[in-house]
Amino acid sequence: MKDYRADARFQGIEPFAKKVWLSSPTMHGDEQRWVDEAIQTNWVSTVGANINEVERIVCGKVGRKYAVGLSAGTAALHLAVKLCAERLYGQPKVGHGALEGRKVFCSDMTFDATVNPVAYEGGEAVFVDTERDTWNMDPAALEKAFELYPEVKLIVLAHLYGVPGKMDALRDIARRHGALIVEDAAESFGATYKGIQTGMFGDASVLSFNGNKIVTGSSGGILLTDSEEDANKARKWSTQSREDAPWYQHEELGYNYRMSNIIAGVVRGQLPYLEEHIAQKRAIYERYREGLRDLPVQMNPFDAGNSVPNYWLSCMLIDSDAMCETVRGEKDALYIHEAGKSCPTEILGALTAFNAEGRPIWKPMHMQPIYRMHPFVTVSGSGRARSNAYIQENGAVDVGADLFHRGLCLPSDNKMTAKQQEIVIEIIHRCFE
Ligand SMILES: *Cc1c(COP(=O)(O)O)cnc(C)c1O
Repeated sequence: MKDYRADARFQGIEPFAKKVWLSSPTMHGDEQRWVDEAIQTNWVSTVGANINEVERIVCGKVGRKYAVGLSAGTAALHLAVKLCAERLYGQPKVGHGALEGRKVFCSDMTFDATVNPVAYEGGEAVFVDTERDTWNMDPAALEKAFELYPEVKLIVLAHLYGVPGKMDALRDIARRHGALIVEDAAESFGATYKGIQTGMFGDASVLSFNGNKIVTGSSGGILLTDSEEDANKARKWSTQSREDAPWYQHEELGYNYRMSNIIAGVVRGQLPYLEEHIAQKRAIYERYREGLRDLPVQMNPFDAGNSVPNYWLSCMLIDSDAMCETVRGEKDALYIHEAGKSCPTEILGALTAFNAEGRPIWKPMHMQPIYRMHPFVTVSGSGRARSNAYIQENGAVDVGADLFHRGLCLPSDNKMTAKQQEIVIEIIHRCFE
């Protein structure tokens, strides 16, 4: 690895004594109280006041009728996908997935936990390209996807980095085609679109309390729905699908997905701080926007007229003509420095050298080896991506690959001080020297 600290461009910058994180948990003290209470009262399993309170408070914050506390956002996504799949296609035989032989339209630019449940249920994810205004599923590409695969009835979409997608357009298309939506709001808890909380837009929606999210239980997730029947089904599935009988009686497949009352204690202690965390993340985003204004870069965009993000991660995109020469393999990357230019690999390397954590933009799903042979639909054409090039062989523009090529997530920890952030901003400037 290149020795950034020996590079004359970085002279005078001292490494951070304590690591500046991308996004780490921030405890406030109330968490301890609810965990202690669970232990003292012996309610330490998957039943108890903390779970009930978390479900009640989340319903209130989001505006949804029912919330089901689960072990992880991934578990919630699995049950959300399964609920929608069974509503569409019926209950599968044991040993078969609920989506066998079915295609599902999925966000392409997201974390793989969004789309894996489609595969858990035997379905085939068809990836839908990203738009540049919010970095979420492109309504025009979704429309195109329905032209190519009119039989599809399920859409799984995420709000990336806490920025809501174009929900009016996406929901309108879904409605016209009679399709259901699973909404992955794992990164966007507290963000709103036209005044409505994310988590309200899916037939089933999902939140995550993973350690790096805006509020955390160390782990944990929530399934949101307005259907009492679905909420009860998810709760039953998550506790091994036990029937109401004196013995263990099973009529359908079960999972061990329920939230623990200890974890729920941590979440319960965190929930009152959601707004405070959002305000801190917003200040971080705005300081970057100001501090990077003179560079050939843009911050991750959002639709200021219609949406209020939760600013979970601040990201930047380097202008095309300010990108130095760079190539990425499957697991490594190379670049050649040029004055006045830079690239994500150089900036992330420099941040690491000074003990700060950034990350490349989530690598699009259609570029992942596991999903490379799946269909991928762009606005101007469709086909399998064959390289990291964002202009495909058929001339179609692959927006996801372009954003991945030029974008990176900046240190966005809510405990980062303004002074530390100034140094991060200075390091980024030096990369362009
Ligand atoms: C974190 C995350 C998940 C998974 O949540 P877990 O609680 O870690 O299982 C799903 N989707 C997105 C977009 C995420 O960022």
